[in-house]
Amino acid sequence: MSFIKNTMVEAEKTEYSMADDAAYLAQRLCEFDRLENPVWVWDFDSTCILWCNDSALTVWQADSKEQLMRRNMGSDMSPSVSKRLNQYQTDFGKNKTVKFREVWTVYPNGKPKTLNVVYSALWLSNGRLCMLCDSSVEKAMDADTLRSAEALLHTSVQISLFSSSGVPLYRNPAARNNALGGDNTLEEHFADSDLLRQLNDLEQDEIEAITSVNTVNGVVWHDITARRCLDAVSGEAAWLISEVDVSRLKATEERAQFFADHDILTKLPNRSYVSNYFQKQIDEVLDEGKSGYLVFLDLDNFKYVNDSLGHDAGDQLLVEVASRLKSIASSDNSVARLGGDEFLLLLCPTDNENQFEETLRNILGVVSLPVILHGRELQVTPSVGVASFPYNGTKIAELMRHADLAMYHAKETGKNDFAFFSKDLSDVVDSKMNLVSELRFALKSGQFETYYQPRVCVESNSIVGAEALARWNHPTRGVVLPDTFIPVCEESGLIAELGKLIFTQAVIAQRIWAEKGNDIRVSVNLSPLQFNEESLVDDLLKIVDQHGGNPKKIELEITESVLMGHDECTIEKLHRLVQCGFEIAIDDFGTGYSSLAYLHRYPISCLKIDKSFINQMDSAKPIIELIVSMAKLFKLYIVAEGVETRYQLDLLQSYECEEYQGYLFHKPVVFDSFVTLLSGSADKAA
Ligand code: C2E
Ligand code: CA
Ligand code: CA
Repeated sequence: MSFIKNTMVEAEKTEYSMADDAAYLAQRLCEFDRLENPVWVWDFDSTCILWCNDSALTVWQADSKEQLMRRNMGSDMSPSVSKRLNQYQTDFGKNKTVKFREVWTVYPNGKPKTLNVVYSALWLSNGRLCMLCDSSVEKAMDADTLRSAEALLHTSVQISLFSSSGVPLYRNPAARNNALGGDNTLEEHFADSDLLRQLNDLEQDEIEAITSVNTVNGVVWHDITARRCLDAVSGEAAWLISEVDVSRLKATEERAQFFADHDILTKLPNRSYVSNYFQKQIDEVLDEGKSGYLVFLDLDNFKYVNDSLGHDAGDQLLVEVASRLKSIASSDNSVARLGGDEFLLLLCPTDNENQFEETLRNILGVVSLPVILHGRELQVTPSVGVASFPYNGTKIAELMRHADLAMYHAKETGKNDFAFFSKDLSDVVDSKMNLVSELRFALKSGQFETYYQPRVCVESNSIVGAEALARWNHPTRGVVLPDTFIPVCEESGLIAELGKLIFTQAVIAQRIWAEKGNDIRVSVNLSPLQFNEESLVDDLLKIVDQHGGNPKKIELEITESVLMGHDECTIEKLHRLVQCGFEIAIDDFGTGYSSLAYLHRYPISCLKIDKSFINQMDSAKPIIELIVSMAKLFKLYIVAEGVETRYQLDLLQSYECEEYQGYLFHKPVVFDSFVTLLSGSADKAA
């Protein structure tokens, strides 16, 4: 510690007269000259010693009082000393009779001298506050005691001693600096009374806690260690408390917690908050014997806003919807954003069903009010699903699932509406889930079989190819058609495996036909999901290789939806497939969105006109004519699907359509029957 160095600087004159003050003191304190203890008066304002007795001259190593009084001790005082002196000044201001006993080390001429000093306030006649320092030289203090006493004075850790009843016995300067009042009890110190109860109740000798405390700076967070000990003076039980201010850490932690369970864009609680806290709110309502509703809200066509106006506009819309929902909800913590355009509301409790439907209509109305985005007025409607507790479940996960199902039902039945969860809705889902596990088993146990439908030359009426079509030989239901299982396979991802199975069987069939002298083309359907698989090309080539197939005799049927993105990846993949020898056909042509004008961008060789056009041949005539003439322009061949009548076939012939497929020639059949068809095909053509 460098309390005071031996610097001889003329003290600066202030508006008061130091000489007058010194003379006043000399007169008043001259009796103290006889004392053996060094005594001096510290002037806070001038940072000088204003008066001292003779013994103090030895302590401060000064030749005369005048010389000592001229030393400006403030010029190179360390900040911690200066802070401590300010603290004394404040303490005296609050309590005129307070005294402090402390061990101080001073450094006159650089040599440390340790003193026991009692500090008390001393007021001059003109009202100025000074400090009377009454010292005794510390003789037998060992180095460790000395240093620990020093450390206690200087540390920023707040250390205090309280009697077991909570009365303050000692506070180090850091603790005094923060204490709300010098004689504040432990009870007044802790803002959180629970900790005090713990101190009193528990048999523990030490308690560590982060707790809120009352200080001069208001309520702040302290990391506290409270330890049972004995007061060294009275020998009675006491608490030694050490405290560190962790308010900033706590604030950072709270911010981190906020972002962990709130959505950054809308500041609403997020999914993680919902799973933790919505359950608590639901439990409370149920404990009171009441009921409530979980409301799942999803915006209709939100993707359109994002795609057409950009993500910024999408974000703005979400923020607006969030604030509208907040205005309806009972509290900020009962509306959450689950992600994307999905919101969740907890509405409870309600005693009147009609009143609740009113609330739902209100939600629909408020959310669908027009919004101005990028200068354009836009109306976005929501679809809302409701699950009630306890009737549709009591656990948040189950209620969310049920409200979500109801919301999908509202979407399916026309959007901009609400729907309540019902058992029927979950039965549909359950049966779908059962179907998925049945399909998984069917794949493993070989219940799928490939059927072949002839593709026939319009001109010669002979078989020129076959389309491979999946069939499920169900153990109890018999042969099941693809419409029942393909969509479920696509939803569940099973389509990848099923697609490969059908492709493999088709490759083998094609090779066997070729070996028997009928080297015809086989076409296989590729689901968009399958097409998008990264390993598609490699997987197909591997199968062809394994079974000695010929890619030139294999056509892959893709749907228009695959081409919709117009992205480079799709085009590149198609080119790779064509380079391997495969031909590409567009299935169900005319039902999707692809424009004829774009067809030349893709390496395709065949268009299959959807059977819906063939079905209504007369009204669809202009479209068929257009498709045929465009196809000719791009050198694509045309296959008409679903030809059932001679009339249809005659018309196709007049359009110079190359191939057809349909019940008129034959339904899809098993492999063996197809072989029979092949052998008879020549006769039929004749
Ligand atoms: P698609 O590719 O358009 O197949 C033609 C569908 O039309 C077949 O139905 C076929 O039986 C039917 N069809 C053929 N001629 C006629 C006719 O004259 N009249 C009528 N009304 N229908 C006719 P299927 O076999 O029930 O297949 C339905 C759909 O399931 C297929 O439509 C295809 O999209 C899908 N699919 C079938 N097998 C597979 C497969 O292995 N993989 C994939 N991804 N999809 C498949
Ligand atoms: Ca097809
Ligand atoms: Ca088709």
